[in-house]
Amino acid sequence: MLFLTLIFLAALVLLALFALTVTIGVTLTSLVTLVTAPGQLLRLLRDRRLRRNHALEHATINVIEERYGPSRLTGMARPDGFLIRGGAPAGLVLEAAQEALARLRAGERRLAIHPRCGTTLVASQLVLALTFLAVLLVTRQLTLWPFLAGILAAGLLGPRLSPWLQRWVTTDAQVGSLAITGIEVEPWPAQFGWTALMMPGSLFVRTAQAGAPGAKRGDESGYTVVIRNREEIPGGRYRIR
Ligand SMILES: [Zn+2]
Repeated sequence: MLFLTLIFLAALVLLALFALTVTIGVTLTSLVTLVTAPGQLLRLLRDRRLRRNHALEHATINVIEERYGPSRLTGMARPDGFLIRGGAPAGLVLEAAQEALARLRAGERRLAIHPRCGTTLVASQLVLALTFLAVLLVTRQLTLWPFLAGILAAGLLGPRLSPWLQRWVTTDAQVGSLAITGIEVEPWPAQFGWTALMMPGSLFVRTAQAGAPGAKRGDESGYTVVIRNREEIPGGRYRIR
């Protein structure tokens, strides 16, 4: 009997330790999130070119998914363009990007919103952190409840908050004078020889604002596709180098 009681007490202690570890861990990460997440969002808010490229990146993936259904494509905006990963052919990505740009110009703002955007993760982390800390402040007890409440709130509110944040903070669907100037294949660092055919790298769609250097070739015939070995390949409407 004493043995069973000891085991029961040991289990209780372990559970309490686990709850304490989780709670302290989540408290720390929540505080870090509260400091870093608004900073990430503010950086995007200040950089209009990055937000326009982010909008065009979402719109490009949306156009491809309109044609071929849900994909595993992921994107990443940069100030000078955006990356598309997931193995889509360069010709398709370039055509989709051109269509996306034209449709954003025509006012299709919804194309700039994508559910798989990293904004959703940041939004969910922010909701988790705020709910966790709020419940912790109210209950003043280091239990698992604030953590569970945070997870629940993040799952419910994060995906709903994300489109709003994308619309107003992380993308700019008014692309203005943004122009596509080229597409380049960026191979995986470990790629060599013919394995490049089996493991396609990411595609980088280069953009420029009118008036900025590199924007002068924004006409339909001026696109350049650059592949890794830098050989010229006839590419129909495109010049593949
Ligand atoms: Zn995104």
